[in-house]
Amino acid sequence: MIQGIPVGLIFPDDEERQVVFAKVRQAFELVARYDSRSLSRFRRDVASVLVVRTSGALAEWESTGRFVRLQLAYVKAPGTSPLEIASSLVHEGTHACLHRLGIEYAEVQRARVEGVCFRSQLAFLREVPGAEQLIANVERQLMRDPGYWTDTAFKERQVAYLRELGFPGWSIRLLTLIRGSEPSNNRLQRPGRSRCSPPAAEPDR
Ligand SMILES: [Zn+2]
Repeated sequence: MIQGIPVGLIFPDDEERQVVFAKVRQAFELVARYDSRSLSRFRRDVASVLVVRTSGALAEWESTGRFVRLQLAYVKAPGTSPLEIASSLVHEGTHACLHRLGIEYAEVQRARVEGVCFRSQLAFLREVPGAEQLIANVERQLMRDPGYWTDTAFKERQVAYLRELGFPGWSIRLLTLIRGSEPSNNRLQRPGRSRCSPPAAEPDR
């Protein structure tokens, strides 16, 4: 438990466990110090935080299980500061809050939903001394073309990510076919799952 929130790590080794828990603890401490309202909302809306080995996004909110998933490689990377993780948690916690309010992550309003989440990150980061670089990154996200958040754009990024992971072309095509046979609003993302960052390496939060 960190700040009253269950945090789990799937299949860690000892070193990963130490690094990850220390960083996530520091991240929550930053949220508690500079944005206690976000932390209260997070406690209310998010059941747990899971750090997983493979994930298409650096961080995402999974409404079905009410958890926030963080990518292990992202959390443990030396270039990822506790403040950056804190900022991601604020973003995902905002998704959780919007979900509780019944606001869906539908394509038609996705850019607006992401805008709300990025602005909550900005509000947090502006309270923290020395956060200029992260603020600039989030401001860049806010200026993205709305087309970035469409199903098609998600699909293209997902295919690129699978290629990067070394999946053979036939398996990617198969996966695309399976996903493509689902209802259109269900294609790349389960309803309510919000992928907030590109699956590729760009550290945007
Ligand atoms: Zn998001």
